Amino acid sequence: VTIAHTLSELVNLNSVSARSNVEIVSYLQKRCEEVGFSTSHFPYTDEHGVEKVNLVALAGTDRTTDGAAELALVGHTDTVPFDPGWGDALKLTRRDGNLYGRGACDTKGFLAAALTAAHSVDLRSLRRPLALVFTADEEAGCIGAKHLAAGQVLRVRYAIVGEPTSLTPMRAGKGYCLADLTVHGKEAHSAYPALGASAIYRAARLLAQLERIGNELTANVHAEFDPPFTTLNVGLISGGTAKNVVPAQCRLTLEWRPIPGQGSQYLLDLLTKAITSEMQSDPDFECTVSALRADDGFETSVDSPLVRFLAESSGHEPGTIAFGTEAPQLIELGAQPVVFGPGNIRVAHRTDEFVGAEQLDRCATILGQAIRRFCCQTR
Ligand SMILES: [Zn+2]
Repeated sequence: VTIAHTLSELVNLNSVSARSNVEIVSYLQKRCEEVGFSTSHFPYTDEHGVEKVNLVALAGTDRTTDGAAELALVGHTDTVPFDPGWGDALKLTRRDGNLYGRGACDTKGFLAAALTAAHSVDLRSLRRPLALVFTADEEAGCIGAKHLAAGQVLRVRYAIVGEPTSLTPMRAGKGYCLADLTVHGKEAHSAYPALGASAIYRAARLLAQLERIGNELTANVHAEFDPPFTTLNVGLISGGTAKNVVPAQCRLTLEWRPIPGQGSQYLLDLLTKAITSEMQSDPDFECTVSALRADDGFETSVDSPLVRFLAESSGHEPGTIAFGTEAPQLIELGAQPVVFGPGNIRVAHRTDEFVGAEQLDRCATILGQAIRRFCCQTR
């Protein structure tokens, strides 16, 4: 089976995040079992009541005492939706050395490369366990990987998390955090403002503090990122009910991307301090904070054997990424993760996403070498 054929079968199985991924998981399970992996399903029901499955395929576990996988190749099974006008979204199409289809770049190209690599190794030659981990709902907020991490279903030493990085090993990534703030006031007829308290004026004072916090965050530098600090954005604001009503409520949506090592709590603490200082000058000031997402950043040392191996075999210096991945969940499973895969992130999530056929082949070769280096060689 050629890698392009495997990719075409994967692209053909519609696995947009809203649908169940049971079909693509059965395909992956079959492809893993035919070369000798043992597989386990970790099902859950998503927030819309749809059945989702994480699949873990293991080989060589009898050659270890602690049960930890030496190397895990991790890829998500879901894709973002596609425009109904893209007639060939589910039909892999080759043009000028590139393979087009939904997921070809993000991240079915990596899945095809991982299967091809696993098929290229005689699993009986493993000295240390190898895991293939296929997750659900990455595009919906790494939900599948979070289930695996919460359940601690396996332990991993080194993990290659498949995402389109044009075969550059990405050893660090910023986190992703979201919070909704609701500033409360007291409604009144606008002709008699003293009878109420404007939530919008209060929110404006808090906003000025948020802008100050955003500026202060730039002092804490992680030089390998662009920009090299935690960024903060108030992306949404809404409040009030009518032009002649003193507004009772104003809502803000706050998003920040913390540099690795700075937990999501750091910003939340600064926010609490800002709210407390507002309450000192306005005893009735009230703001409720609901933290919606708190995905930490990650960082694997440049000296990690996996970073060094991938840099050497790809010929690319290790880099950093600003987009979210499942690397933090792999850290929770004990791993040193590196994000790596074929395809360019700039063509992901859009109509006509593609992966270069040559890059896809190279990825399979490098993943095969990684399996031999980490799971087969004597130490
Ligand atoms: Zn992806």
